[in-house]
Amino acid sequence: MKYYSLHKKSPKVSFMEAVTNALAPDKGLYFPETITPLSKAFFDNINTLSNDEIAFEAMKQFVSPDIPEDTLKSIINDTLSFNFPIVEFNKNISTLELFHGPTLAFKDVGARFMARCLGYFNQNNTHDVTVLVATSGDTGAAVANGFLGVKGVKVVILYPSGKVSAIQEKQLTTLGQNITALEVKGTFDDCQAMVKTAFLDNHLTEKMQLTSANSINVARWLPQLLYFMFAYKKLGTKYENIVFSVPSGNLGNVCAGMMAQQLGLPIRHFIASNNENNVVTEYLKSRLYKPKPTVQTISNAMDVGDPSNFIRIQEIYNNKFETLSYNLSSFSFSDDDTKAAMLEVYKHHNYIADPHGAVGYLGCKAYLEKNPNAHCVFLETAHPIKFLDIVEDVIKTEQVIPEQIQSVLGKKKVTTTITTYEDFKKYLLK
Ligand SMILES: *Cc1c(COP(=O)(O)O)cnc(C)c1O
Repeated sequence: MKYYSLHKKSPKVSFMEAVTNALAPDKGLYFPETITPLSKAFFDNINTLSNDEIAFEAMKQFVSPDIPEDTLKSIINDTLSFNFPIVEFNKNISTLELFHGPTLAFKDVGARFMARCLGYFNQNNTHDVTVLVATSGDTGAAVANGFLGVKGVKVVILYPSGKVSAIQEKQLTTLGQNITALEVKGTFDDCQAMVKTAFLDNHLTEKMQLTSANSINVARWLPQLLYFMFAYKKLGTKYENIVFSVPSGNLGNVCAGMMAQQLGLPIRHFIASNNENNVVTEYLKSRLYKPKPTVQTISNAMDVGDPSNFIRIQEIYNNKFETLSYNLSSFSFSDDDTKAAMLEVYKHHNYIADPHGAVGYLGCKAYLEKNPNAHCVFLETAHPIKFLDIVEDVIKTEQVIPEQIQSVLGKKKVTTTITTYEDFKKYLLK
């Protein structure tokens, strides 16, 4: 598979180059040159396949020939070593739980897959690759955990000071080894801007090989398409008209779902559920894409004012607004709406949703009003325990802290505080 830059001013590259460079020289995101649908038989029989078998068939074309089939099988087996349960609320709503990985958020799959690909590409390299990652909370933890101890790779995490939850911060700042955390006096968008500036900084890129583990990286982004297949495997024989409500920030997850659909997965529609950072909701209303400064909310991993994968979504639908809006709806909800939804889910469905999942649930409800025959699956993208204060405050019951979190709580946070891009650069060069 070759990948081309969405700015269309750079040469096509292999999967390996796309992964190790993250962005094309013209600063465009990479996109696969072809998408070959899987056979109808594959989808007809998907409920007889294991997750590993599904993943192998779905991912093969995207990594070939750079990753041999046997290596791909073992990368997949390592990556998917936990469950993806579905909880059915009623005939119209289910949730797909994506928080059973080591850092309790959905980004574990992409991060683990990418880390293992990079580890494979780097096994005979003599120089290190430095992975830069800007995080609004969960990406950093997943990437840090996925890359911990991977030979030849250093990870530098940038996170906005005071804007991630206490548990998220512990997950980012206590690992040590090849992982370091920078606490940025600013917002997530500031962190993301610093990472982008670093990639543009020739003085820096001449001295070190940089890559990104944000969803701009194809190896982080593409494996997320598997979630939609795993959900379909369990629900496809039971319901027609399956739609997905995806709590969205940078739009990597929902855009991966669209790739699953391009591969032939028979699903009906997507809902990008937004908090008050509502660029997509506004775009679908006005046809105008207007990035905005980030607003801080209780679903902080979705506090993104200029989602990087929007351009990939446009590419999937050939930049045609009609096709895009046929496949995608979007709704935006306030923090008060979100808290009310958490309470409703708890009282009516005896289920504890985290704030991100609650926004997804609201997206389902909004869509079902006009489409009562759909079965809407909202993605539960993080374990509620990661947002302990809010969850306990809203549903007034004490939560049990899982072992993955217990183990980091007692550890000491280690960070370096930075304010400007110059601070960041000095840190990288030292
Ligand atoms: C990252 C994240 C999101 C947003 O996903 P995107 O792919 O950036 O749209 C939603 N919920 C949680 C818990 C996350 O960590």
